[in-house]
Amino acid sequence: MLTLLESIELSTEYLQKKEIESPHLNAELLLADVLNCKRLELFLRFDKPLSENEKIRYREYLKRRAAKEPLQYIVGSTSFYGLDFIVNESVLIPRQETEILVETIINSHKKESVKKILDVGFGSGCISITLAKYFPDAEVVGIDISEDAHNIAVENAEKLNAGNVHFEIKDIFSSEITEIFSEADIVVSNPPYVSLEEYDILQDEIVKYEPKMAVSDNGNGLQFYERICELGKTNIKKGSSLYFEVSAGQSNAVAEILRKNNFSEVKILKDYAEIERVISGVKK
Ligand code: GLN
Repeated sequence: MLTLLESIELSTEYLQKKEIESPHLNAELLLADVLNCKRLELFLRFDKPLSENEKIRYREYLKRRAAKEPLQYIVGSTSFYGLDFIVNESVLIPRQETEILVETIINSHKKESVKKILDVGFGSGCISITLAKYFPDAEVVGIDISEDAHNIAVENAEKLNAGNVHFEIKDIFSSEITEIFSEADIVVSNPPYVSLEEYDILQDEIVKYEPKMAVSDNGNGLQFYERICELGKTNIKKGSSLYFEVSAGQSNAVAEILRKNNFSEVKILKDYAEIERVISGVKK
């Protein structure tokens, strides 16, 4: 009978052969989920055998991961800014870079001064809910076109006890959208920013499993920035801040879009990989 340690070793080899990045870590995290324990707790059980049921589930998980399904979808959750979010294939998996976007907002505004936040494209709800926790006096409104994402975001808000957030299914490109900006002190978005051209060369994990409409705008990658800034030009109140996450190489183009739509104090921040990732402006 195989022990935990032996199972992890064999699974690591298997995932490595299937060209999965960090195969050992993946093997451990999947097994921890099967055993319903923390990864570090595996070490205390290394010499224990797996039950027949556990073996069956572990094998199934490994097969899915080998087919390039993201680990987060298999285990059904991911951590973002210290909170645990439910995820499935209807939402983009929250990324580390997006934590910088959220952190920038948290560090730039006094708690009491923020009364309303708008998040365009809420997905899993990671941005809206994290900000709702850090700005407990603010009302956070998220909009997204996806009904499936709405179900997940609502579930996350409930699970994380964020009472000051609500999510609405809305299309930012529709004509009846202008009133969503009214009174917002902060507008934030991590929109689908991958261009059609770049989309096809993304990792299998993204192309095969993450919702395309959350990743790419099916165009030049700038359409959501154009739309939000254009609407913001007449509908975001003076002195309110706008924050975007951008893709590598987009910051100058997005800065230009902000300026041309009456946003000033345009600032660009880099992520941990020194890529210009967050851009902000203040409505004139
Ligand atoms: N706001 C969510 C996130 O940042 C979803 C973004 C999206 O679907 N493009 O993860």
